[in-house]
Amino acid sequence: MSAEIINGRAISDELLMGLKAQIENLRTQHHVTPCLAVVLVGERPDSLSYVTNKDRVAQQIGMASRPVKLPSTATQDEILRAVQELNADIKVHGILVQMPLPSHVDAETVMAAIDPAKDVDGFHDVNVGKLHKGKKDGFTPCTPMGCMVLLHRVLPNLKGKRAVVIGRSNIVGKPMAYLLQEANATVTLAHSGTHDLASVVAEHDIVIAAIGKPEFVKANFIKPKDAIIIDVGINRIERDGKPKLVGDVDFAAVSEKAAFITPVPGGVGPMTIWGLMDNTVKAACAAHNITRAR
Ligand code: NDP
Repeated sequence: MSAEIINGRAISDELLMGLKAQIENLRTQHHVTPCLAVVLVGERPDSLSYVTNKDRVAQQIGMASRPVKLPSTATQDEILRAVQELNADIKVHGILVQMPLPSHVDAETVMAAIDPAKDVDGFHDVNVGKLHKGKKDGFTPCTPMGCMVLLHRVLPNLKGKRAVVIGRSNIVGKPMAYLLQEANATVTLAHSGTHDLASVVAEHDIVIAAIGKPEFVKANFIKPKDAIIIDVGINRIERDGKPKLVGDVDFAAVSEKAAFITPVPGGVGPMTIWGLMDNTVKAACAAHNITRAR
């Protein structure tokens, strides 16, 4: 048996077209153009490529984008000043500071400086609190938000299902576990301290891998036949002398055993970008008191 591929790129493209129409409507009916500011500190090639990608998608859907580039030597105060200027700018609706920041900068302090109403990454304490209290006016982190859409495409009702999230980071694992339980799945949150991970994972219908280790989840981790695998990992490796992008799941082997699986690339990655754009439209509507059309 070979698993059905959950095509994140196609689903993201479809959802982005819907956002494009919403943005056009905001522009023509309300004279509002949602604007996303992306702050990049330094020139890490991976960060540069993520930022370029976000900028390209924003432009494709008619969103305004405001790239802010600072040198890797920028001080914490300089970064905070840039964030405060964006907070104060009424034309900017969403602010994202690309992580990781250089080691001399305290990322928590920078995240805390972003106006929660513009925190489209959903990392600010206020938005984390809102998510955990089930309040709908905050921002959900983009990657877990995208994963939930992918899951719902193949399984609209998660009630009674057992889901395991491998990884407990603040940006992926923890909010993912929260969203799954909100959707009535029974959730296990696994991490590096989990004993006999393979046996634990094999008890679950849904597996979310967010570990950061190339092809770590093997076929023996997977419940046969009906498991759904969402692979969040993005790992750059070299194979046969060539650079290659792989997930946290051993795709070739696991797709022989599971029912559904996301590929890397083309799975969760494009959905994260959709989540960011969706949150920015949400922020623009909230800032201008506009009820969001769906
Ligand atoms: P972190 O490094 O912050 O967290 C990794 C988590 O994996 C930790 O909780 C860690 O456990 C756990 N872990 C590490 N080793 C093991 C192990 N041997 N067994 C079980 N658990 C383990 O990573 P992120 O959450 O930021 O990212 C995870 C992956 O997702 C990365 O590949 C990243 O590139 C990718 N990513 C992809 C995105 C996308 O858009 N597709 C967006 C964001 C991230 P512990 O807490 O015990 O240390």
